[in-house]
Amino acid sequence: MSATPISAVPNELGRFGDYGGVFVPETLVAALTQLSEVYAEARIDHAFWDELEHLNRTFVGRATPLYRADRLTEHARSISASSGGATIWLKREDLAHTGAHKINNTLGQGLLTRRMGKKRIIAETGAGQHGVASATAAAHLGLECDVYMGAEDVRRQHLNVVRMKMLGANVVPVDSGSRTLKDATNEAMRDWMGSVDGTHYIIGSVVGPHPFPMIVRDFQAVIGRETRDQCREAFGGLPDAVVACVGGGSNAAGIFYPFVDDTHVALVGVEAGGRSSGAGDHAAPLSHGQPGVLHGSLSYVLQDDQGQTSDVHSCSAGLDYPGVGPEHAYWKDSGRVEYTSVSDAAALDAFTQLARTEGIIPALETAHAVAETVCRAASMARNQHIVMNCSGRGDKDVQEAARLLGMGD
Ligand SMILES: *Cc1c(COP(=O)(O)O)cnc(C)c1O
Repeated sequence: MSATPISAVPNELGRFGDYGGVFVPETLVAALTQLSEVYAEARIDHAFWDELEHLNRTFVGRATPLYRADRLTEHARSISASSGGATIWLKREDLAHTGAHKINNTLGQGLLTRRMGKKRIIAETGAGQHGVASATAAAHLGLECDVYMGAEDVRRQHLNVVRMKMLGANVVPVDSGSRTLKDATNEAMRDWMGSVDGTHYIIGSVVGPHPFPMIVRDFQAVIGRETRDQCREAFGGLPDAVVACVGGGSNAAGIFYPFVDDTHVALVGVEAGGRSSGAGDHAAPLSHGQPGVLHGSLSYVLQDDQGQTSDVHSCSAGLDYPGVGPEHAYWKDSGRVEYTSVSDAAALDAFTQLARTEGIIPALETAHAVAETVCRAASMARNQHIVMNCSGRGDKDVQEAARLLGMGD
């Protein structure tokens, strides 16, 4: 019996089962075909991966540590109804340069930009994290950089706007629609349609038309590969469960992918449950959405009866997106990954809890994964191991969290 491994996707049409594909205007097809061809060559070129590995080691600070969170584990044991409580480990992507996993992708795509002989990159950004990671890669590799950002986000995320400008990037405020991430993405795609000859569009998550979801996953898979090796070294085997938060899905895809064929490892994705499960109150397309096309690919999308994309809400700007990567849709339908959601309130509690038990202030996105991890660890046995992807640090969120926690000034 030789069942196809679930990791052997996408197919040559860019499909993860039914999902993914290339739903774009004709003007972009040539650019996506070029990108597919260049990446197909790079993917089997040792020199390409050696250069990326060198950057990861010397510039990003990889490998990021796998850290045993003893006091968080103790807490999970104290609330365990079954006198259990698995050992909790954190994969410290918050310690990567610029403070999150996003740099893994922007450096990889920056190298691809060079390989195509292009001199300019563009990017979309919501909270500004992908914008900062793109501006950082552009500065490091000597590329021009324009970042599209909703005008509302420009206002809310002032510090990241300043960071991008300091790094030499140009920030373009977008005034259409809800003036947030979805609108910035539309605008970046529009730019690319007119500029593909000299410009590469660095999408910030495992979303968009093929080959982006595959490329971003491959660059983020360094997280999961390191985690496998580090688990073997730390406790002599693979973990029983791996947990990650899901916005577009790149940090989750990166840590899940190298475990996908190890079916005894439970994989758990955590979406933003927001204020309630009512329309417009959350950002959980895998939990509450329907299949549909958004930003060039078919996946689960939050939409109304007419198929119009819904408004979304989350306390964390990085999870505040109505779509999700097509590979997650495939993993959901195949049952390989379990998806759940965590509310704003529970994420905020977990934010404080990680800060106070471990001395690590997580990003609000990451805090969603913390809440689920503690809960799950409590229901597991004491000799089991659970790994959480600590996707980013919370410096960017302390002001917003203080406001939500009513801590005043
Ligand atoms: C952007 C971001 C996320 C959400 O994006 P994914 O593509 O789902 O990983 C999660 N955590 C942090 C820290 C982020 O900056």
